[in-house]
Amino acid sequence: MKLQFNHQRLWDASGEKRYIFSSLFSLEIRRSIVYNELAMEEKKTLQKEVSFSGVGVHSGKNVNLALIPSDSGEIIFRRADLDNLEMGIDPRQIEAKNSTSLVSKDSRIQTIEHLMATLFAFGIDSLIVELDSGEIPIMDGSALPFVAAILQAGTKPLTLNKKTIQILKPFVLQEKEASISFFPDSDFKITYLIDFAHPVIGKQELSLSVNLRTFASEIAPARTFGFLKDVELMRSQGLALGGSLENALVLDDEKVINGPLRFPDEFVRHKILDLIGDLSLLGSPLLGHFKAEKAGHSLHLRAVQFLLDSPEFWAYEK
Ligand SMILES: [Zn+2]
Repeated sequence: MKLQFNHQRLWDASGEKRYIFSSLFSLEIRRSIVYNELAMEEKKTLQKEVSFSGVGVHSGKNVNLALIPSDSGEIIFRRADLDNLEMGIDPRQIEAKNSTSLVSKDSRIQTIEHLMATLFAFGIDSLIVELDSGEIPIMDGSALPFVAAILQAGTKPLTLNKKTIQILKPFVLQEKEASISFFPDSDFKITYLIDFAHPVIGKQELSLSVNLRTFASEIAPARTFGFLKDVELMRSQGLALGGSLENALVLDDEKVINGPLRFPDEFVRHKILDLIGDLSLLGSPLLGHFKAEKAGHSLHLRAVQFLLDSPEFWAYEK
């Protein structure tokens, strides 16, 4: 199944500019979004296979991606181009620079974070992710194409219990100006603050409870972004080879050159998308408030690894 989707901007009754789902998100499908899916106690897979094709934002290579239902209780990546080599998710074998990548001695899979965030929001933890290249396609730079396809395919509970990680006491990880802290909470919340010396971005802060409804409407549509002045350097390092005006918001010194924005604060929303994708590497639903300031993938990953190394800060919810 290949999906085309369009989006449109409308003004709602309050006059606030809102990003509105296309007709693909019929009322019936939107009704099927259960608010507390993240809190479900059973593992889930997809009802049927979905596929995508696109380009890897860093590799520049075309890639076909299939999400294949499975009852294994795990998310397994499979490289169809490497004799079906399989890779599970091991938070100790992750590289986090400009994107988040699974690495092993035989293979790597780059830019998993937007897909992982989407699977996490749907509570999907049993799946084969098959691809014929080393990078998840960037699609339009957001998670919306993944959300749209999974909403259409539907999810299916398995008779496998899942455990929720509950943060028990606060902690702060600091790296120069950047930090991530986490606190006990009865919900899964994220607060993110960014501060760029750029007239369109500046200081942006957003705080929200993460569930499938807020993820699909407030976070998934937010696209990745980059600065024109960084493009040459990134390309000389073999990065952003597939980046284009179709799959990233690009800023020159004054403006977004390929607007309009989907939200005035689309940038901080995208950072939340990235953080959800990186926290999903813990492999469990979360109860806690995660606050990030001026962070990025490498600090997100340090927080994940800190939690794995520090069982006194969390427990599986009873
Ligand atoms: Zn991202």
